[in-house]
Amino acid sequence: MADYKITLLKGDGIGPEIVNQAVKVLNKAAEKFGFTVEYDEALLGGCAIDATGVPLPEETVAKCKASDSVLLGAVGGPKWDNQPGSNRPEAGLLGIRGALGLFANLRPSVIFGPLKSASPIKDEIIGDDMDIMIVRELTGGIYFGQRGREDDAAWDTEKYSVAEVERIARVAFDLAMKRNKKLTSVDKANVLESSRLWRQTVIEVSKDYPEVELNHMYVDNCAMQLVRNPKQFDVIVTSNIFGDILSDEASMIAGSIGMLASASLSGGKLGLYEPIHGSAPDIAGKGIANPLATILSVAMMLRYSLAQPEAAEAIEAAVAKVLENNRTPDIYEEGMNKVTCEQMGDLVCAQL
Ligand code: NAD
Repeated sequence: MADYKITLLKGDGIGPEIVNQAVKVLNKAAEKFGFTVEYDEALLGGCAIDATGVPLPEETVAKCKASDSVLLGAVGGPKWDNQPGSNRPEAGLLGIRGALGLFANLRPSVIFGPLKSASPIKDEIIGDDMDIMIVRELTGGIYFGQRGREDDAAWDTEKYSVAEVERIARVAFDLAMKRNKKLTSVDKANVLESSRLWRQTVIEVSKDYPEVELNHMYVDNCAMQLVRNPKQFDVIVTSNIFGDILSDEASMIAGSIGMLASASLSGGKLGLYEPIHGSAPDIAGKGIANPLATILSVAMMLRYSLAQPEAAEAIEAAVAKVLENNRTPDIYEEGMNKVTCEQMGDLVCAQL
């Protein structure tokens, strides 16, 4: 029996191309670090609609639940744009996150040295080692609260319980302990009651993590500080809606959408790992997609779900090294070797 069982949800558009490269890299890491991986594939998104009529078949949920981790490419595309909202490919994505109880979304914003010029922020502001981890609460808050309409008015509700804040705070403190022991909790406690409960709860949890330096920041200030002085941040923890906005802002600082990985975690080991970009229908099938965000998602999987931190570091180091001379078209710069999706995967394997 293999050490780890991974379910692959290749999805639509460039999904299959980039996942295939990431699997190649995971296999290479397994060989190098002495563990074994077994794969199972399942349908999610548009390809699932085509085959079964729904974006998230029951079989997919069952396969994911029976695995150690899930690697997802991307879903969606113009072919399914006329589906009703509840049957769109993206509904499958929300469905699988809910079905697996993934309440913590980890979005690293890292700049690889050779790609510094891709950032819209000035060199001296980014420095040499910008590395921010945004931890976003994923299953509560205003996106899931009561909403409604009455006459010409509409409302949505931001609601958090102590238990919900506690569990996301623990994920963030645990991460901070493995990084630079600095945590910024972002809220709007000067206005919102739910934020006051958020802040109070984070302070309570912090008593279990005396080594972590905790500070609090209002969300409007955080949005500004991310572009003014991003280096001040290590781990940021925040609610669903604030995290949605801030993580997109932070990803722009890194400059390139084809480079950014993400993880969504439940209380246990099971996690879902995916690039932050979509299915890029404009370049699907051309063999030119950048597979690095998916390869870096595999590194996150090795670190957070499979307890193989050395393999994770080796993959990240290999990516950094390969980027010194090689680029897919989306991150191409004069003087570099222009490579295809498959060649990029091969180069990372060779470097490993
Ligand atoms: P997108 O991220 O797919 O593409 C935006 C732009 O970035 C495109 O020009 C694309 O070619 C480029 N790009 C994205 N990833 C790339 C990569 N790895 N390498 C090279 N270039 C890359 O966003 P979009 O165009 O707004 O959405 C396309 C489809 O993807 C839609 O159906 C959308 O709903 C879906 N989507 C899915 C996810 C997901 O599966 N998690 C996330 C976002 C969007």
